[in-house]
Amino acid sequence: MSVLPFDQRDGFIWFDGDFVAWKDAKLHVLSHGLHYASCVFEGERAYGGRIFKSREHSERFRASAELLDFSIPYSAADLDAIKAEVVARNNFSNCYVRPVAWRGSEMMAVAAQHAKIHVAIAAWDWPSMFDIATKMRGIKLDVAEYRRPDPATAPCRSKAAGLYMICTISKHRAERRGYADAMMLDWRGRVAECTGANIFFVSGGALHTPIADCFLDGITRRTVIDLARRRGIEVVERRIMPEELEGFEECFICGTGAEVTPVAEIGPYRFLPGALSRAMIDDYAAEVQPQQKAA
Ligand code: PMP
Repeated sequence: MSVLPFDQRDGFIWFDGDFVAWKDAKLHVLSHGLHYASCVFEGERAYGGRIFKSREHSERFRASAELLDFSIPYSAADLDAIKAEVVARNNFSNCYVRPVAWRGSEMMAVAAQHAKIHVAIAAWDWPSMFDIATKMRGIKLDVAEYRRPDPATAPCRSKAAGLYMICTISKHRAERRGYADAMMLDWRGRVAECTGANIFFVSGGALHTPIADCFLDGITRRTVIDLARRRGIEVVERRIMPEELEGFEECFICGTGAEVTPVAEIGPYRFLPGALSRAMIDDYAAEVQPQQKAA
């Protein structure tokens, strides 16, 4: 793929309090965040120059760090203002926004109590991936070998870099086998989520989704639940076993990056992207637009 590498672009990145030229936003190889995964991040989107649910993302960013035993030295209000400036300074309208925080180089062992906390915020152009006709064909999901860990094993509510190790491995394996992504089960063998998105199923006019008790309770997931209920659609959060997939009519995944993306197959199971997936795509698209929200 001939994508311009992310360290060789033009523009500005906010880095520890200042805007720096994109190519100068560097860190040292001896950084605790790199070696020991003491790193948390966010993934957000701006539509028409406005970041959707910026405050919720800022709060989750701060909460993710607290779960890894460090504090982000900026308030949620500060982060909101900086993110808006990152989007504006780079002249982006529809873009992805990536705040990241990590422990620095003062200590290079498991313990790093006194390592400095660094924060950077970058943004890049990222329009929605598919036109609606392509989207409605649905993507194909593999079933990942790795499972979402037990909350007693990992800080699973944190959007922590370390938790993505099994996601990258699972997504690579799925792509090599011709799938777009992989659905992950949890440590108990229940349906959990995908490698970077939550999952919903349709049965008898209602939405069914796993309880987010050991994986990220996505901001898009919560938005979709809210939008569905506003339409009078029943939403059931419950334990879903993989064998039940046979009985569901539709399936879609959702996340800041994926937005609402219908699924046509998961391993041996088939779904027909239909009216409810389409309604959620349309409602989500309308919800994220700043003009329509203000109306
Ligand atoms: N699960 C995982 C593992 C993710 O990486 C994401 C994307 N942040 C999500 C779910 C969806 O979260 P959100 O809707 O907040 O983007």
